[in-house]
Amino acid sequence: MGSIMEGKARSEVFSLKPYVPGKPVEEVERELGITGVIKLASNENPLGPSPLAVARVQEALKQLNVYPDGACYYLRRALAEHYGFSEDSFLVGNGSDELLRLITETFVGPGDEVLYGVPSFSEYGFMALIMGGVNVEVPLKDMRFDLPSMLDKITDKTKLVYICNPNNPTGTITGRKETDQFMKSLRDDVLVIFDEAYYEYVTDKDYVSGLEYLSQGRNVIVLRTFSKIYGLAGLRIGYGITTPEIAGLVNRVREPFNVNLLAQTAAIGALSDKEHLEKSREVNIQGREFLYREFSRMGLEYVPTEANFIFVDLKTDCRRVFQALLREGVIVRTGDIFGYPTYIRVTIGKPEENQRFIAALERVLQA
Ligand SMILES: *Cc1c(COP(=O)(O)O)cnc(C)c1O
Repeated sequence: MGSIMEGKARSEVFSLKPYVPGKPVEEVERELGITGVIKLASNENPLGPSPLAVARVQEALKQLNVYPDGACYYLRRALAEHYGFSEDSFLVGNGSDELLRLITETFVGPGDEVLYGVPSFSEYGFMALIMGGVNVEVPLKDMRFDLPSMLDKITDKTKLVYICNPNNPTGTITGRKETDQFMKSLRDDVLVIFDEAYYEYVTDKDYVSGLEYLSQGRNVIVLRTFSKIYGLAGLRIGYGITTPEIAGLVNRVREPFNVNLLAQTAAIGALSDKEHLEKSREVNIQGREFLYREFSRMGLEYVPTEANFIFVDLKTDCRRVFQALLREGVIVRTGDIFGYPTYIRVTIGKPEENQRFIAALERVLQA
């Protein structure tokens, strides 16, 4: 049964573990027969998309018969203006997930090493395995990327290094001094990818963006996304900022119409909406303070975060709590998939969502 085709699949396929996404609201409501479920599991913006993005999408609906601009010209122009890098420094993808795939397809062949910290975003290793690459995983130290230990793991075969900053699921950043030191010690033919999906939420002054190293002429790619603070996760659009040389290489493996029309036009609107961005940041800071206070009151230890989610230790089996929270109508992410079986990762929501989560968590932990 199925064994004929199984023998035909590339061996790499069997090394893959499927991604575990946050459970969709509709799925939980369907399975449990309840309504009013809230999702604090995928770090989406609780305020929704920018009204400017929505207005542009409505306008663009009339052009659905037309292929999108494969070069994303207007979006790249808007990004170039926003950042002060040239238009040919930008890569646009169907989510930054697609860019991770394209970067890997461009640079990683069988036996090439890809280096990153764990736990972190699981897609780094996933993409490399598809290409027959070898994943070199370095455990976090005090919940942060351990850059000195990562440096020790660099070999002649190292092609890519990922720095997830802030890191998902811990919310931690790498500080300026350690990052500077790491970049100074690293060979220039090793491509460093700074995944800055949560960049816009950072408040710590010690943070350093990969853009600084790009400005210094280093071979880096900075990945950012419209899925998180910009509230466009459902449309799938992310971008990379890099050298025109690297952008040119990655563009060679890109499909001609990889980013759809609605995503391109919504992204331009979202990028221009400073008010929505500021408000989203503010709601996150307030929510963070509230959750810190409540966790402390409940005697729970948490990892201080620079993103829009908190990794918190419940000191009990997270799967049990996860299931009980589902029955309370609250979806979070379990820590076991990250190797922390007593932790959960909870997205910071709107005030009423945070309150509902805390009330539910208290009931569940007391039961
Ligand atoms: C959410 C997330 C992404 C993926 O973003 P998309 O643009 O939606 O594909 C990338 N990296 C990290 C660390 C994330 O948490």
